[in-house]
Amino acid sequence: MDRVPCIAGNWKMNKNITEALQLVEEMLPRLSELSGVERVVCPPFIALPAVAERLKDEDVFVGSQNVHWKEAGAFTGEISPTMLQDLCTFAIIGHSERRAYFGETDETVNLRVRAALDHGLRPIVCVGETLEQREAGQTIDVVSTQVSQGFADISKEDFRRVIVAYEPIWAIGTGKAATPEDANETIVASIRPVLTSMFGEDIAQATRIQYGGSVKSGNAAEFFQQPDIDGALVGGASLRADDFIAIVKAARG
Ligand code: PEP
Repeated sequence: MDRVPCIAGNWKMNKNITEALQLVEEMLPRLSELSGVERVVCPPFIALPAVAERLKDEDVFVGSQNVHWKEAGAFTGEISPTMLQDLCTFAIIGHSERRAYFGETDETVNLRVRAALDHGLRPIVCVGETLEQREAGQTIDVVSTQVSQGFADISKEDFRRVIVAYEPIWAIGTGKAATPEDANETIVASIRPVLTSMFGEDIAQATRIQYGGSVKSGNAAEFFQQPDIDGALVGGASLRADDFIAIVKAARG
């Protein structure tokens, strides 16, 4: 199955507007040429309008780092799908930092995914186990549940626009990446089979599944050689133009 790899840079709570534009300028001449891989940058909300404006005629997409499920209302600190739909193509949903520090659950992930899809956004949905869960042998159960609950009540047609990011939590921002074989095995054991039961074999096989967790220019190619890994969600290394570009190049093979 040919799946176009997608490399998304999650800038997290880094870069003000000026810095975000500087990073985009630094990356763009090389990044815009690397066709054959979908390239996405996800700056903080404050920088989305400026970055979206700069990238509007480029072959590089913009994503948000979250999205609420309501269109408007008393939800202090949140951002609605209608606010994002003209600025972004993608929306990261259910990142482990949101789950760990901001009370995100599979239920709220599901609400956000459905709202994003209803407003034309393409969700990048993060799943992954903690070190404790991994050591207790619960990885498959935990990840399968995140997938089945996170994608409940979504039509097959809508689900085609979803990307899944498998991010073992113990590997995020720690410098400790999973082994590529291990990451592939978890995807094969706990993500594609659940997608198959929910959406059918064709859609499960067509769904892009990224790996995330300490991906760098030095280890990216090993992940992309795995048959079930279709790109990466990149945190720290996406803040450095050279590293991000090297990771995109690695995904081209
Ligand atoms: C992430 O934020 O999704 C991530 C994978 O971070 P890092 O690459 O820094 O581990």
